[in-house]
Amino acid sequence: MVGAPQGYYAASVPEGPLARQLSGDIRADICVIGAGFTGLSAALHGARAGARVVVLEAQAVGFAASGRNGGQIHPGHRKEQAYLESWLGVQHARDLWTLSEEARHLVFDLAREGCDLKRGLVIAAHDAAASRDLAEDAAHLERNYGYRELVTMDAATTRASIGTAAYPASRLDKGGGHLHPLKFARRLAEGALDAGATLYDNSRVRAIEGNVVRTDLGSVTAGHIVLATDAFSGALAPHLKPYIAHVESFIVATAPLSDSTVLPSDVAVADTRHVLDYYRKSADNRLLFAGRERYWTPPADIARLVRPRMLRVFPQLHDTPIEYAWRGTVGITRTRMPHFGRLSERVLFGHGYSGHGVALSALGGKALAEAALGKPERFDTLARVPARKFPGGQLLRKPMVTAALTWLKVVDAL
Ligand SMILES: Cc1cc2nc3c(=O)[nH]c(=O)nc-3n(C[C@H](O)[C@H](O)[C@H](O)COP(=O)(O)OP(=O)(O)OC[C@H]3O[C@@H](n4cnc5c(N)ncnc54)[C@H](O)[C@@H]3O)c2cc1C
Repeated sequence: MVGAPQGYYAASVPEGPLARQLSGDIRADICVIGAGFTGLSAALHGARAGARVVVLEAQAVGFAASGRNGGQIHPGHRKEQAYLESWLGVQHARDLWTLSEEARHLVFDLAREGCDLKRGLVIAAHDAAASRDLAEDAAHLERNYGYRELVTMDAATTRASIGTAAYPASRLDKGGGHLHPLKFARRLAEGALDAGATLYDNSRVRAIEGNVVRTDLGSVTAGHIVLATDAFSGALAPHLKPYIAHVESFIVATAPLSDSTVLPSDVAVADTRHVLDYYRKSADNRLLFAGRERYWTPPADIARLVRPRMLRVFPQLHDTPIEYAWRGTVGITRTRMPHFGRLSERVLFGHGYSGHGVALSALGGKALAEAALGKPERFDTLARVPARKFPGGQLLRKPMVTAALTWLKVVDAL
C-alpha cells in the first residue's frame, strides 16, 4: 500500500478502463499529447467545439501530477498581483487575474459531481512577516480587483479552524477549495469521450515530425498538436528543456482519523514557507499531508521523511498510522508562472504551473484548444508572460536547482 505510484488516490477510485493503445496511422484535427488536466481539458473543449480530437497518453489518465497532487484549488497565480503589475504592467496583470478567476470557476463547475469537491483554502503564515504580507495582498486584491473572499484570521481563530498552534496568523480564501485529483482527471476524460474525443493510453509519443505524431505502433497526422506533458515536455521538445525544471513532492495519507481536533473546518491548508507543507482531509476523513521537496534521488521511505513534518503541525497524531505514501513530479518554471507558447505554427504547448495547476490547468487546456481552433485570446494572454531559462545548461541545471532549493530551506528555517 505504502509504495503504490498514486497512493491513496489510486486506492480510492475504481479500476480504470482497459488500456487502448494506438495502433496504425490515423488523422485528427487536434492531437493532444498527455492525459493530465491540461491535455484532458484541451480534448474536452476541442471536442465540444466540434473538432476531431485524439489524445495520446504514455501511461494512463491522470498517471502523473494530475492524479497524485495535493488537490488544492488556489485562486490567482503563484505570484501576487502586485508583483505581476510591476513586472508585466497593470493591464496584462489584470488580464491574467481574469483568467485565474475563470480558471477556478471552471474547476468548480467541471468537478461539481463525483470529485469530493469542497470549499475553503487557508494560507497559514509561518511567521509575523508572512502574516503582514498576506494581509497586504488581501487589501490589494479587495481594493484593485474587488476580490472579497479573503478573511484574515489571528492565532486563536487559526487554531480553531485548523487544529494546530503552529501558526501566528492565517488567511481563509473562501474562493479556494480542494478535490480528489484522480477523480477529477477521470471526470475530464469522461467529458472528453462523451464530447467525441478518442483517447489512447499506453501510447507514448516518441517524436513529433512536422504535423505527424509518432508512437511505437502508430501515428497521428493532425491539423494542430497540443503538447500537454508538463514536467516531461523537454523529453519530446528539447527546445523547452531549459524552461522547465522538476521537483519531487511527497504526500502521505493517515488511517481515517478518530481525532476530531484535526482540521475541524475541513479546508485545505498551505503554509507560506518556500518549501511548504500543504494538507487537507479526504472524504473518508484521512489527513493527506505533504511536505519536503527533492530534486535528486527520491527517498526510499517517504512516510519516514514526511511524518516529522506532520507531527510538528499535528502532534496529536503521534499514534496515528500512515497507510499510504507517494510522490509526484511538479513542473516548475523560473518565473513560477505557467509557460505557454508555440513550437511552430501548428504545435502549441502549455506547462509549468509551478504547484498551482489544479485551478489553472483546466483553463490552460481550454486556452490551448481555442488557439488550435483559431481563437487565441486566452492563449495569447498566457503566452505573453515572458519565459526565462534556468541557468546552468544541460549538465549544471540539476545541481543549481538543488542548491536553490537548499537555500530556500535555509531561509525558511531562519
Ligand atoms: C505531488 C504534487 C502535488 C501537487 N499539489 C498541487 C496542489 O495541491 N495544488 C495545485 O494547484 N497544484 C498542485 N500540483 C501541481 C499540479 O498537479 C500540476 O500543475 C497539474 O496536474 C499539471 O497538469 P498537466 O496536465 O499539465 O500535467 P500532468 O498531470 O503531469 O500530465 C502530463 C501527462 O503527459 C504524459 N506524458 C509525458 N510524456 C509523454 C509522452 N512522450 N507521450 C505521451 N504522454 C506523455 C504523462 O504520463 C502525464 O499523464 C502538485 C503536483 C504534484 C506532483
